[in-house]
Amino acid sequence: MVACEMCGKDVPTLNNAVVAGTQMKVCSSCLRHGNSIEEKVEPSKTFYKKKKAQAIELAVVDNYASMINSELSKRSMNVQQLARAVNIKESSLNKYLSNKIKIDVLTAKKIEKYLELSLTKEVESVNVQDYMDEESQEEASSLGDLLMKQLKEKNNK
Ligand SMILES: [Zn+2]
Repeated sequence: MVACEMCGKDVPTLNNAVVAGTQMKVCSSCLRHGNSIEEKVEPSKTFYKKKKAQAIELAVVDNYASMINSELSKRSMNVQQLARAVNIKESSLNKYLSNKIKIDVLTAKKIEKYLELSLTKEVESVNVQDYMDEESQEEASSLGDLLMKQLKEKNNK
């Protein structure tokens, strides 16, 4: 017996379903609340393209604040210096570093580049890898490059 991730009921088998954008294993009575993955498969090129755009997102790692703080003390730098180096407000950076505000991906990317840390990670939504051909996987990996390009453009302003 396995427990349904949605209602917790013990059932003999579970179904893969996408509930509010999250992949879950659910019992058949919960299945109708979500879209089963099988229903989503459409072999058209537009599907790949559409799916790909949602496939990989960048997210900031949970412990970014402690990573930045320890890197700063390693380099004997203070928050003010880092804020200047990456061209953001010191008050904003303080809020990020004390977890009062979650840092945004673009700012994290700037700090990541400057301090040579890994503060972001690629997050894949919903098992899309299975549906993607090799070509679109390559395109998807250039998403990070695109982000860096946007960042540079922003910096140049
Ligand atoms: Zn259930």
